[in-house]
Amino acid sequence: MRLILIGPPGVGKGTQSALLVERLGLKALSSGEIFRREIDAQTDLGRLAQRYIDHGELVPNGVTIEMMAKRLRDEETRKSGFVLDGFPRTVRQAEALDEILFQMDLGLDRVVSIEVEDETIIHRLAGRMGCTKCGEIYHSRNKPPMREGLCDRCNGPLFVRSDDQPGTIMERLRVFHENTAPVVDYYGRTGTLLRVDGSLGPEETYRQIISPIAS
Ligand code: AMP
Repeated sequence: MRLILIGPPGVGKGTQSALLVERLGLKALSSGEIFRREIDAQTDLGRLAQRYIDHGELVPNGVTIEMMAKRLRDEETRKSGFVLDGFPRTVRQAEALDEILFQMDLGLDRVVSIEVEDETIIHRLAGRMGCTKCGEIYHSRNKPPMREGLCDRCNGPLFVRSDDQPGTIMERLRVFHENTAPVVDYYGRTGTLLRVDGSLGPEETYRQIISPIAS
């Protein structure tokens, strides 16, 4: 199965992607996560990406497409199927993805647009924490860890993303509406789009994503 999850920052793409990996054995390809690993490893790509990420801006299309193309062409990814989280984020990236999949003779099963109000996003992002080891996501009010600063699942230390600051959150939302909302329209024209309500919690969102595929 090959899926794309599209939605504003903090809508729950990472959570849904983790559920799809756990329950369907798909490979997750998260462009934001890959950039963060490059930043941690202090590679040239990481240094370049950080300049944009810290301001809530998109990393330029050229390097982003190249980075994702390499991972999509991986034999393992072809075999397991994949869930794309955070890519494509521009119409140019969506067109490039079409070309890559065409060359690989693969299609997309579903493009999922997870939708919630901006107000909910702002509330969710301000308070979000992630585990540095296993990636589990917490929230200071909605889903606090049992022990402060530590992951319930693996005991790893929790961290707050540098781009989850109030000013950067607003810029990321603006960038989403300007650049990524047109990607939803792009897929709306191809007939593979499924719009789901992301305000009802992770399990209900998962059910909406998966039920049309399972039936
Ligand atoms: P995310 O983890 O998906 O919220 O992404 C964090 C940040 O990484 C974004 O705010 C962008 O700066 C950058 N980023 C992630 N994916 C892309 C993409 N497909 N195109 C450009 N920039 C991206």
